[in-house]
Amino acid sequence: MLRSHTCGELRPGHIGSSVRLGGWLARVRDHGGLIFLDLRDRYGVTQVVVDPRVSAASHTLAEGLGRETCILVVGHVRERSADTVNSAVPTGEIEVVAEEVRCLASSRVPPFHVEEAGALAPETRLRYRFLDLRREWSQAALQRRSAAALAIRNTLAERSFTEIETPFLVRSTPEGARDFIVPSRTEPGSFFALPQSPQLYKQLLMVSGCDRYYQIVRCFRDEDLRQDRQPEFTQLDLEMSFAEEEDVMEVTEAAVAAASRACAEGDVPHPFPRISHREALDRFGTDKPDLRYGLELVDISDLIRESSFDIVRSVVEGGGVAKTISAPFALSRAYLNDLIAFAQELGAAGLAYIRVDDGGSALEGTLAKLFPSAVQERLIERAGATPGSFLLIVSGPREMTNQVLGAVRTRLARDFLDLSGSRPEFVWITDFPLFEPDPVNGRPVPAHHPFTSPAEGESLEGVDDPFQIGSRSYDLVLNGVELGSGSVRIHDPTVQARVLGMLGMEPDAVERDFGFLLQALEYGPPPHAGIAVGFDRLVALLLGTHDIREVIAFPKSRSGESLVDGAPAPVSEDQLVALGLELGPDLGRVR
Ligand code: ASP
Repeated sequence: MLRSHTCGELRPGHIGSSVRLGGWLARVRDHGGLIFLDLRDRYGVTQVVVDPRVSAASHTLAEGLGRETCILVVGHVRERSADTVNSAVPTGEIEVVAEEVRCLASSRVPPFHVEEAGALAPETRLRYRFLDLRREWSQAALQRRSAAALAIRNTLAERSFTEIETPFLVRSTPEGARDFIVPSRTEPGSFFALPQSPQLYKQLLMVSGCDRYYQIVRCFRDEDLRQDRQPEFTQLDLEMSFAEEEDVMEVTEAAVAAASRACAEGDVPHPFPRISHREALDRFGTDKPDLRYGLELVDISDLIRESSFDIVRSVVEGGGVAKTISAPFALSRAYLNDLIAFAQELGAAGLAYIRVDDGGSALEGTLAKLFPSAVQERLIERAGATPGSFLLIVSGPREMTNQVLGAVRTRLARDFLDLSGSRPEFVWITDFPLFEPDPVNGRPVPAHHPFTSPAEGESLEGVDDPFQIGSRSYDLVLNGVELGSGSVRIHDPTVQARVLGMLGMEPDAVERDFGFLLQALEYGPPPHAGIAVGFDRLVALLLGTHDIREVIAFPKSRSGESLVDGAPAPVSEDQLVALGLELGPDLGRVR
């Protein structure tokens, strides 16, 4: 090796040793006679002193070196004088006296200070991602991501899982999101799709007897981007034969806990709590609850009936519900007015608030008079309200009330709680419905995907309301963010065809798009279940960021471009001809 040590390695024990360090110039300080270089690599920073009395040639060279030049320093390690010790860095007690400085590669003036890149516009960072990645934080993120993947692989290998690759050029199937498609040269006019997930392949692998499969695999979805979405992203994908919900959950917990330890974020206690979909909506107003804090939704419909709070009472008597959150914060009138407007924007008629007095056993203000004092006490107790808290009340149809108070809950947490230091809270949400209404036309669409098994004992024949059918699916949620979903799968071809039919697929479309799956299910498929966990997202959340781009080496920009190499880009006429493709008149850009 050109180098003998890394820039993060030298300690007082090395004093007197001869060393060779390679790295990039993070900073150059010319103190008249002496030049100080901060030499950086992915392991750390070491201070190099270039003294003309030790090497006049090196000093002359160092005078001309710019930031981010790649250099090699040959020298010896010396103790720093007491007043120059820097206890903030691990190498801060020593410095390297240069006997020779060699420029390995010069650098143009970089567009930003690497150390400060974290504060720049994402587009600038992504265009110069190769420089942005020289930063300590980015390096640590890549290291930890790699460590997390390794820990997951080890954990699954110990449990007899086999890592199996599945194709990236697949058939386009109507499975959820929009596919990226790839034209075929050998069959002009036909197309591959890039997989949205290896779902069907892993099910085929179960039919093949590969009873425990996993992959840390890239998936592709042509969706509009949001901060936590990328068109290509990585999943920990796994599938198990002869397995049920709890088996998948146990393995996933072990894998996630190993990833957390590997990211140096410590152990995560497991088993994680399990909450049914219905209960999650009732208690937290969402199927992705953040369990780092309480602020739960409490049903007070029965107490409202005993009050003379007529507006709300008539809602309850008309079949709606009334629910409250107790907010133990000093909420100003302006803030409360904002909350009312917020609730109304989300569809509530309004939001009522009542303060609990400082004694903690009675309500205060004009609305208090509408509640007999015994009811006030029960209300305070039910809501778990502390003295001085505000009871925030919303009423209406159950679903809307949950949704609005769920959003209020998240907003209160954002505005009043500092969650930065709190430990990650994982939770399983179980028992989702099989179908949910399409937001546009109200027709049934899969709540998870069409290969999810209906709940045990659930009949699909003669159902009036498909939305009442339960499923054997489960979601993994971390700190209010959906991290993964999975299910026990359908392994009976008749049931599978029936579910596809309930989704509105005609029999020939079923045959055309999913015939290969139905056929495989006719050859003794074992019962099987699995899950996919968003690996980018898991690492990002473990490292305390919501932005998955921070843990992806070369992420796409918000508009879906790869700024570092300018993809997507036009191709040549020859390439198009070979594929039998012609661009429309407005798209006639060829290379
Ligand atoms: N393939 C599914 C997904 O990507 C996960 C699963 O059910 O295993 O969401």
